[in-house]
Parts: sequence; structure tokens; C-alpha cells
Amino acid sequence: MSRSPEPTRKIGRLLVLAVLALVAACTPASQPQGRPNVLLVTIDTQRADHLGCYGYKAAVTPTLDGLAARGVRFEFAVGHAPLTAPSHASILTGLTPLHHGIRDNGAYVLPQGVRTVAEDFQKAGYRTAAFVSGFPLKRRFGFDRGFDLYDDNLPRGKDARRTAYVERTADRTTDAALHWLASAAAPGAGAAPFFLWVHYFDPHAPYEAPAEYMGGVASPYDGETRFVDAQLARLLKSVDGAGKPAVILVTADHGESLGEHGEDTHGIFLYDATIRVPFLLVAPGLSPRVVDRPVARGIDVLPTLVDLAGLPARAVEGRSLRRAAAGERLADEPSYAESLHPQLQYGWAPLHAWRTAKYKVIEAPRAELYDLEADPGEAHDRSAQDPSRVAAMRKELLRAMATTTPDASQAADAETREKLGALGYVGTAGGSAPTPTGRDPKDGIGLVTRLGRNGMTVARTEPEKAIRELTALLAEDPGMLVVLRTRAVAYAAAGRPADAVRDLRELEKRGQLSSEDAVVLGDNLRLSGHPKEAAQVLERTIRDNPKFAQPLLSLAAVDLQERNVDAAAAAYARAREMEPDNPEALRGLADVALIRGDAEQAGKLYARILELEPTDAGALTKLGVVRMRSGHRDEAIGLLQRAVEREPKNGEALLYLAGALASSGRPAEAVPFFERALAAGPRTSMALNGLGLTRLELGDRPGAAAAFRESLKLDPDQPDVAGKLKELGRP
Ligand SMILES: [Zn+2]
Repeated sequence: MSRSPEPTRKIGRLLVLAVLALVAACTPASQPQGRPNVLLVTIDTQRADHLGCYGYKAAVTPTLDGLAARGVRFEFAVGHAPLTAPSHASILTGLTPLHHGIRDNGAYVLPQGVRTVAEDFQKAGYRTAAFVSGFPLKRRFGFDRGFDLYDDNLPRGKDARRTAYVERTADRTTDAALHWLASAAAPGAGAAPFFLWVHYFDPHAPYEAPAEYMGGVASPYDGETRFVDAQLARLLKSVDGAGKPAVILVTADHGESLGEHGEDTHGIFLYDATIRVPFLLVAPGLSPRVVDRPVARGIDVLPTLVDLAGLPARAVEGRSLRRAAAGERLADEPSYAESLHPQLQYGWAPLHAWRTAKYKVIEAPRAELYDLEADPGEAHDRSAQDPSRVAAMRKELLRAMATTTPDASQAADAETREKLGALGYVGTAGGSAPTPTGRDPKDGIGLVTRLGRNGMTVARTEPEKAIRELTALLAEDPGMLVVLRTRAVAYAAAGRPADAVRDLRELEKRGQLSSEDAVVLGDNLRLSGHPKEAAQVLERTIRDNPKFAQPLLSLAAVDLQERNVDAAAAAYARAREMEPDNPEALRGLADVALIRGDAEQAGKLYARILELEPTDAGALTKLGVVRMRSGHRDEAIGLLQRAVEREPKNGEALLYLAGALASSGRPAEAVPFFERALAAGPRTSMALNGLGLTRLELGDRPGAAAAFRESLKLDPDQPDVAGKLKELGRP
């Protein structure tokens, strides 16, 4: 007897539905729980061959070596550009610069529609966070896409050679990441896994690791690596203890030439000194091994992480290296690299390279060919001996370059579009490109070195010296835009804003005024007495860069100079909307609150700056003043003491501390701070009167009289002080 088919079908259907329901229950919401945590670490400017695990004898890199020992080390790995922003964009998107559209530092925004690895993990239910340490990765360039938290807070820094807010040291970046791991990530059993990206910037020049890391290393550069290695140990300990297995990938965006091929740092050439990077991988189920081939590429990071975490694959230019990491022999894939920096910054020919495991061709006015196996240092150009190989590889390179997606230009800002257009990248279609024209970077590297050593590094500290060298460089090659940019900075530092304006207007005339330049132009127009023109330039820059806070801060400075407090407040508020923790926006808003007499609001804002930057002397001083006014004397004195400890020659902090001590019945302690404040300058009548009154309180009549006399010399119109002095003159 056969059963009726009906109920069977029904049961079958119910079963299918039940299974589907189960599957549905396991997908998006609850599925991530079983997945591993993922940690991506990028060490800026880190050469592979300066790590112990890559055979460097002088290395002090126990953490990275330990990671290599317990994981998979790719002997050869390469980035796609010797520059932070383009190379990181490749790591984060799985695309070469041809397709993600970021071609240089500081000027390009990741186009809409280019998806990041963080978006993949976020969509899969991961908690995503990034902690970056260098200016080229600020959120306004689009790197924050897909991150729940994108921490790009960079401290102001004390290095007079450099602009403020450009770097965060590895200890502080690690602190921030550990804080997130301990709080937001709260790795309970049922919690969703995390995707965490930590970027360290320390091996980038200048090489100045904390003193205790400089002993026992072969060079200051190695000291920076050692410092990062020690901080990475803290990070790994926390990730390993997070209650879930973790996929860990450590790599770099590019290396550092360290003098090879005549290049001091990175950014111009495409030799392995800057293109080869470390690539260390640890993941559940992977046994320790060294993978000799294939060469790992920056574009392979995304598909590899996605694969190891069990997320669905999607098409990018790179491929997953999971099977290679598991011991399977994968065929090598060629790799593209570029540097448009020589063209965009120097007006020279750009460089493009095509690389297989064995050969590299570099497209330049004089193309080069290297046998990487026989000549890893790329000292012997073989292009003359092997022209057919050059032709064949060049053909592949040009084919890849012809596929540039319009995406790269379409979504970029106006300035980027202009730059891409000038390079012929907009609407590039098929066919072969002509040999690049302009100076071959090989012939110009000496100028780059002079610019770096005698221009950029001293533009702010020895501006007149820098101006001389930069002027000489411009005489040799007037097309070097970066030299004009640098000279404008030097002129500004030398207190010659009108000269700075002239150089920046020249950049503008050539259609090469970047938004960063526009801010410098605005500042120098203001300083040279042209507030209206300054406001015009800044307002235009604000319109063209909806995520760039700096022009708003500079516009607020113009408003304050024009005594338009309301407009300044509005500009600061808009800057803070873009970057809630921008310290200068917070400071501006706090100062405005103080001007308006809203001490409570000012206090809150200064306190927030100090949460971000506990040693900010300006905020310590101002919060001290606010606390003093509200009668919290001890707290005020404590804050002011910290400000003075941090900046012993800060005249403002010294004066307020002196005043706070004097008005708290501690005149004997106050006097030396008045004296130090006057020594630090400026010598104001207010400071002199404070000193005079305090000396008087201590019975030092001659001392008091001297201070009052000097005060009256500065400002004769002080009847009270004149009266006091008269009193003192009587026996
Ligand atoms: Zn970099």
C-alpha cells in the first residue's frame, strides 16, 4: 500500500520551510557569533628586510618574529604605491590605485561606490573599529567607510619642524585600541566578533623613537620598528585574550629606501626598497609555514581576510591567499605599482611598474628591467639586454592601465577631477599609452634629497635657510610645485606672509592650489592684512571640501580678528560637526564661550580637550582660569601647575598660576611664578602690577616699587598704580 503523496509532499515542504527558517535564524543576526575576530595591523614605512623573521641580523623584533613563528610568513609581499594613502586604499579595497582612485596623499577622496573591507565585515554583523596614526589616513579622505568607530585623533605634537596633528605614536594608538577592546568590544561568549584595524606610523621619518628603544639597534629607523614591535605585543595580548580565536594579519603600506637608489625615504621610486613589505598571517587552522610563492599583494588582503573569516567572497582585483597559506602551491599573479607623486608634486614623469615573481619592469622615460631573483637590490638594469621582455611586460602593464575605471574620477572632488584630467586619467579608454614625458625621476632624485634635507625638515625651524635652498631649487627646476608649497610654509614661518601669499597665488595660477594650500593661503592673507580675500578663499575651500574642517577653523580666525564672535562660533560649530573631537574646534568653541561669559560651557569643552590630550597646556591653563573663577582654587592651581610643568616657558600659564597662588593667600609661592612669567614674556603691566602687589604683601617695598615703576613706564595711564607708588615713596 502506498501512502498518499499529498502528506509526504506537505511534510517535505514543512521540512524545507523549517530548514529555511533555521538557516534564516542563523544568518545575518546570529551567525557572526561563531566567526573569528579579525585584526589587521599596518605598520607604515616598514621594510620587510628589517625584521628578524625576514633574516635581518640586527633586528630587535621579538613580537613580529613570534607572530611569524606561530603563523604563516609570506617571504615576498608587495604594496601598490610607495605612498600611505594609495597603498592603504589598496589594502582596504582589494583594488589597485587604477580602480580605487586614490593616487597620492592628501588630495584624493575614496570615491563613493568603492567598497571597503570594513563594509564587508560590518555587513556581516561584525563590530568594526579603526585606530590610525598618520595624517594621510584622516577620515576626510574616505578611509572611515564601514567603521563603527574611526579613531583618527592625532595629538598636536611638540615637534617644531612639523605641522601640528600629523602623527600619533604607537603607545598612544595602542592605548586607544586597548581601551576599545576592553569596553565597546566586551568580548562575551555571545558577543559579535570584531574587525579591528590598527595603523602604526612610527617608522615614518623623522626616526625618533623613545630613548629606551634606541639602544641595541643598528639605526634610528630600527629603533622605531623596535618601539612598534613592543607596542604590538600589548595589542596582541589583548586580542589573543578576547575570548574568540582571531585572524591576525600584519603588513605594511610600503618600505623605506634608506638611501638606496639615491632616495632617502619613499614616494618617488618603485624599487623593492619601498614596494616590498612584510606579510604575516595567523588564523585558526593554519599551521606555521613560510610561503615562498606566490608573492602576496596589498590587494590580496581583503579577499584573504574575508575568506578566513568565512564571509562570502566578492570580486575584487586581489585574490584570497588562504590556500597558499595552507600549503597549496598557487601560481604567481603579476602585480601593478605606481607613483604619480613625481608628476603631481614635481611636474616630472610618473612611474608605473609591472612585476612578476622574477621580473619587474618600470615604465619611465627610460624604462628599466630587473631580474629580482638574481638581483634583488635592483642594481643592474637589464632593459638593454632583454628588450623583448621589456616590450612584453610593458604591453601587459599598459593593458592594465587602460582599464582605469571612471569611478576614480567621477566621485572624487573637483580638485581631484582636475588632477586626474590633467593626467589623462579621465575617460581613458583602451589602446597603448605613449612613453611618459617629463624629467625621469631617476635624474631628479638629487633635487628630492636636497628638498627633503635642506627644505622640508627646516622650513619651520630655520625658515630663512630653507628659503635660500628652495629658491635655488626653483631656479634649477621651476616646475617643482612641492618646492613652491614648501617655500610658502617657510615664508609663513619667517613672518613673511605676503611672500607666502605670492607663492600660493602662483600655484593657484597654475591650477595646482590644493585644499591644504588654500588653507595656508587663507591664513597668510589674514596675517598680511587682507581679511576679505582670506574669507573668500576659505569659503570657496569649504564649499569644495564638505568633510574638511581646517578651512572652517581658519575662517573662524578671520572672524575673530574682525571681532565677529557669532560668525566665528558658527564656523567652529560646523567644524565640530565634521569632526566632533577636533581639538582646535573644541578650543575655539571654548574660547568663544569664555568671551561670552559662559564659563560652564567653556569648562566642559576644555575638559573634553584634556580627555583627548591630557597634557595640552593651553587647555590646562584655560580650564584653570575657569575653575578659579568658579571658586575651585585648589583644582585651578593643580591644573595650572600641570600646564607649567608641561610648558615651563608658557608665559600665560605662569602668570595665571602666579595670580591663582597670590589670591589664595600664598604670596611667597606666587612671586617666583610672576618673575618667570615676566621672563618668558610678554612683560605686561598686568603681570608687573601682580608682582608689585604680591611683593608688597610680603613686605618687599623696594621690589614692589620697582615693579610698579616699570608698569607705569609701559602704561602711564594707571592712576591706582601711580597712587600706590606714591604711597611707597613715603617713609
Ligand atoms: Zn605610508
